Amino acid sequence: MFKYDVIVVGLGHAGCEAAIAAARLGAKVLAISLNLDNIALMPCNPAVGGPAKSCLTREVDALGGIMGVAADATYMQMKMLNSSKGPAVRALRAQSDKKEYSAFVRNLLESEENIHLKQCTCTELMVENGKIIGMKDEFGLEYFAPAIVLTTGTSLDAKIWVGLQSQQFGRLGEVSAKGLSASLEKNGIKLGRLKTGTPPRVDARSIDYSKTEIQPGDEILHHFSFLPDRPVRKQYPCYLTRTTDKTKEIILANLDKSPMYSGKIHARGPRYCPSIEDKIVRFVNNPSHHIFLEPEGKSTYEIYVGGFSTSLPAPVQLEMLKTLPGLENVHVIKPAYAVEYDYVPAVQTMHSLMSKNVQGLFFGGQINGTSGYEEAAAQGLVAGINAVNYIRNQEPMILSRESSYIGTLIDDLVTKDIDEPYRMLTSRSEYRLLLRQDNADERLTEIGNKQGLVGEEQYQRFKSKMQTIDDEIERFRLTKVPATAENNAFLAKIGEHINEGIRLAELIKRPNITYDAIKELDETTKDLAYPYEIGEQVEIRLKYDGYIKRQKEQVELSSKADRIRIPDDIDYKKIQHISTETKEKLDKIRPTTLGQAARIGGVKPADIAVLSVLIESKAYRNVD
Ligand SMILES: Cc1cc2nc3c(=O)[nH]c(=O)nc-3n(C[C@H](O)[C@H](O)[C@H](O)COP(=O)(O)OP(=O)(O)OC[C@H]3O[C@@H](n4cnc5c(N)ncnc54)[C@H](O)[C@@H]3O)c2cc1C
Repeated sequence: MFKYDVIVVGLGHAGCEAAIAAARLGAKVLAISLNLDNIALMPCNPAVGGPAKSCLTREVDALGGIMGVAADATYMQMKMLNSSKGPAVRALRAQSDKKEYSAFVRNLLESEENIHLKQCTCTELMVENGKIIGMKDEFGLEYFAPAIVLTTGTSLDAKIWVGLQSQQFGRLGEVSAKGLSASLEKNGIKLGRLKTGTPPRVDARSIDYSKTEIQPGDEILHHFSFLPDRPVRKQYPCYLTRTTDKTKEIILANLDKSPMYSGKIHARGPRYCPSIEDKIVRFVNNPSHHIFLEPEGKSTYEIYVGGFSTSLPAPVQLEMLKTLPGLENVHVIKPAYAVEYDYVPAVQTMHSLMSKNVQGLFFGGQINGTSGYEEAAAQGLVAGINAVNYIRNQEPMILSRESSYIGTLIDDLVTKDIDEPYRMLTSRSEYRLLLRQDNADERLTEIGNKQGLVGEEQYQRFKSKMQTIDDEIERFRLTKVPATAENNAFLAKIGEHINEGIRLAELIKRPNITYDAIKELDETTKDLAYPYEIGEQVEIRLKYDGYIKRQKEQVELSSKADRIRIPDDIDYKKIQHISTETKEKLDKIRPTTLGQAARIGGVKPADIAVLSVLIESKAYRNVD
């Protein structure tokens, strides 16, 4: 009999985090996937990070996950997006070598003694008395475990579309997973249907790059992981081209051949990752749209045509591609396609990512209705940690909205009825000044250490970093720069001037003054030669002091509502003075706190006020 502590179904970005986290916490793990040669595959963009997603990646790293380390080890290009803007929107992005990324993660999985890898399909869940006890594969073999994490991505009963032709694939060349959807439904879990799409891949040798704009990587290198091992690799450029009037003309003339526009696909797609036909139709007056040409790896000529996702037929795709400057003679390696698949609306799931229906069954990644590698990794990590907490009868790790984008993502998923692929955006957080990629370690390392994934050495290194930042801020508060002619000569170059001596902590608040600029004015700052991250934190904490304080006060206010727990036995149907719509929503989602109840779409503030009084007075028990 095959017996494990945790079974992880699916080895995409969610499954790999879940399996490694559970194994490192000491659980015996079976990790299965439809095709073990596609572990941690990037079926879409070969890139990690970008706005909000860089925060997720660093949060995963701070909690002891692997995505940041893998992205640092396999990048082809690193770029800090929005580097001239405020710290809340700066975002690191790695163009990854897709094959190397996948091989690196597979190697991590294989180096975990506690993980058994297996290529098979989970076709049935075994549930007894509302608790998961195991699963069956396509050959009828049974595997037993008290906890299962499902991270099936876009594979469940999936269908891909190229134009009006469809195939039973989860991703191009990978079979659709059959059986599991029916088993989930049999156990009372409702399914929904979503769709997403990916652009064509073309041959680099057929592109005339002289007609495109080069997009190099950064000279000053940044990394995702907070760990000290920071690989320095050769960087490769990406290129930029754009759509033309001819592209638009071809798309508009062929809309009836798109499965979305002709009504063949009813599932909702990602609003924030629209297909090129969606962009042309929605922004019809835009003269052109940016198209990015991104290498898929060092050892391949395959180029990802970013921004050109489409489900139009292959011959039309070729016609469209040929209208892009530089791609007049393009050779297509893989066509663009759309995929529709089953997902489990996450309102049926708790903040721990465990099912409300079946104890011990956890969900992570695209199966919860999200889209994106980083979103998947974040949920996989939480699900893996909580699967172990569950089998050990320990409290689940629940991250609050104010602690992280991961907390925000999961709270949104389990609270809001999401009917399109959910992607993380900075605007989803009400605390985005606090939730920055640069301070993910400050927010989460302690939790990672408590959960057992951040080791003592890493934890002590983190504590020492925090101490250095505090000491340096204190020194900035005490040290004055004199108003000498030499200092003013330097300041004049950056548009600044001082009439009298000024403390460093005050001076750095000025818009043009950076920590690096202070090095030119203060010998000690230069001599200390702290690494970049120390200067960055000192600068951000002092420059944005007022804003950060105000946001912390806001957190204090709103987290009060999140501390008011709603009793499990509350019967919303019996409560008077609350609208029927609110009752239905509360009953469906069954929020655990008043704060969560208030965030449910369509729930009125007046209803929350009534609920608050009932909970406080315990009068909800006498509402008959
Ligand atoms: C065509 C396409 C377009 C996409 N476009 C975008 C985009 O534009 N933007 C974006 O951010 N993201 C996009 N994505 C999504 C991105 O790839 C996913 O969000 C991310 O990879 C999800 O990670 P995951 O771990 O949840 O699932 P996946 O990476 O899909 O991994 C799922 C894993 O589960 C395995 N599996 C499935 N069912 C079973 C089963 N029954 N038994 C055993 N193993 C099973 C599969 O083999 C696979 O290993 C796209 C994905 C696809 C396929």
